[in-house]
Amino acid sequence: MKIAVIGTGYVGLVTGVCLAELGHHVTCIDVDQEKVEKLNSGKSPIYEEGLEELLQKNLHNEQVEFTTEYQQGLKDKQLVYLAVGTPQGEDGSADLTYIEAASRDIAEHLENDTVIVTKSTVPVGTNEYIKEIIEANLVHEVHIKIASNPEFLRQGSAVYDTFHGDRIVIGSDDEEALELLEAVNAGFNLPIVKTDLRSAEMIKYASNAFLATKISFINEMANLSEKIGANIDHVARGMGMDKRIGESFLNAGIGFGGSCFPKDTRAIISIGKEIAYDMPILENVVDVNERQRSIIVDKLLKRVYDLKGKKVAVLGLSFKPNTDDMREAPSIAVTEKLLEEGATVVAYDPVAVANAKKVLPGQVNYAESAEEAVQGADVAIILTEWKQIKEFPLTGYKERMNKALLFDGRNCFNLDQVKDSGVEYHSIGRPVIY
Ligand code: NAD
Repeated sequence: MKIAVIGTGYVGLVTGVCLAELGHHVTCIDVDQEKVEKLNSGKSPIYEEGLEELLQKNLHNEQVEFTTEYQQGLKDKQLVYLAVGTPQGEDGSADLTYIEAASRDIAEHLENDTVIVTKSTVPVGTNEYIKEIIEANLVHEVHIKIASNPEFLRQGSAVYDTFHGDRIVIGSDDEEALELLEAVNAGFNLPIVKTDLRSAEMIKYASNAFLATKISFINEMANLSEKIGANIDHVARGMGMDKRIGESFLNAGIGFGGSCFPKDTRAIISIGKEIAYDMPILENVVDVNERQRSIIVDKLLKRVYDLKGKKVAVLGLSFKPNTDDMREAPSIAVTEKLLEEGATVVAYDPVAVANAKKVLPGQVNYAESAEEAVQGADVAIILTEWKQIKEFPLTGYKERMNKALLFDGRNCFNLDQVKDSGVEYHSIGRPVIY
């Protein structure tokens, strides 16, 4: 099939390249000229395992192309995917500015009948709004159908998830649009949930809100466990073996970040507010998450008292491993606080440093490795559970730091490993090891 994808961020680029890999002809449109040039030269502007290889292969086979021109990009397309950003607005609701602009651009340049498919995470009712904008601004006499196909990929394993996800959700109030989407997705060979437009939009928010709830829940249990002498590792294992609960998303830590959970949880609360429906569970999920971010630094300050003139090694900056994404990363608030307290901060991240430099305070120094970061440090703090950080041996802290004092916000080591290592180890929801 001939497909256009609008927006080449984490979602649009992965979608475009994976649809091309299935054999569809895909044109990706983005307003960012630099990004488009980079993509056409076979370079991925984002870090995702396996993405650059697939990009190069499909560019070479002429299955995918990139352009800034809507007219050229939309020509003869049977489906047009919308995958532009929907960031958090000032009041917590989803900001639809990019969706509105892209919809108007589609209307201006569309010359044939097509199905508009929204991949972006948008509030319930937005697909109908998109249809209204496009129909009100059409220049040529064409007909559009509208469908929702929310995205569930996880950054860090986005390509894998596209081919091995748990389900594909397609929603439309038009039977032909649903059939077309089912045919396009058939190659992924995954279970397909067919539903109406509003339910599809709601599935995405409800799923993210539930996952965020699970994280805040386990963090609350971790904080309590720590105070009453239980170990959250054991608690989570014992809970997770119950199939009704499930073992995933029960890792205690410094809370969720990234471009989705924080904004989507706030957005669904805001959807409720618009119709005067309070969502106390989700409001508390957000509050617990905010509190959780400061817990590791509070522990560190309680232990060290005065950070003036102390060197702190910050290990891991991206909001989670295997991505270079710094959006809403807990490392932002943590490094700001450390600097405010007078510490010298040396940070290490395997891939996110270029993006980190754009959002972290200028005083942060960067190291090329965990080894280099902890060299001569007074305190080390783990914020992202990268493989390189989990595998950095405890002897490395012992040998290189002034005093091996480690605060682990991601529970990277099990306590048996730490005992007798000579490292003083503070983590989340577990006893301190001296
Ligand atoms: P992103 O910010 O990485 O990318 C958005 C892209 O859209 C950018 O390249 C930008 O230049 C482009 N763009 C903006 N306006 C445009 C326009 N008018 N025309 C053409 N291109 C335009 O965003 P993302 O992380 O890929 O997220 C996109 C959507 O998918 C959001 O709604 C997000 O909530 C949702 N989502 C994201 C993830 C994720 O893990 N990142 C997962 C599921 C769903």
